[in-house]
Amino acid sequence: MSLPSDCLFCQFVSGALATEIVGQNRNAIAFRDINPQAPLHVLVIPREHYADVAALALANPEALADVVSLAQEVAMDEADGEYRLIFNSGPSAGQSVFHVHGHVIGGTRLGWSPA
Ligand code: 5GP
Ligand code: ZN
Repeated sequence: MSLPSDCLFCQFVSGALATEIVGQNRNAIAFRDINPQAPLHVLVIPREHYADVAALALANPEALADVVSLAQEVAMDEADGEYRLIFNSGPSAGQSVFHVHGHVIGGTRLGWSPA
């Protein structure tokens, strides 16, 4: 796991790097993906650094609940509450940033070819 000081998403949380925050709650923030794959593509992350969703669930289930409820809130605002929430876990599953993040995908009729 990268140290939080080296972590891009920790720097969005701290404000050391700027990004467009579209929602937040006690334990989570939401910001737009830099390379959107759908009309709605927002990343939801816990303020605390964990490598993946299983580590977050074990250490801080309340923060995971806040990540999920923030995803729902963003999707209600921007996609009538219909969305896909994806946590890539591990490089072979497509994870490239090792601060857990859920991809909130929506705003169009989605296809289904996850593999
Ligand atoms: P992963 O591949 O780990 O599931 O998702 C990482 C996501 O972070 C990718 O969708 C990528 O486009 C996004 N991303 C990478 N660097 C940045 C950045 O500097 N700003 C924002 N807003 N998103 C980023
Ligand atoms: Zn981090």
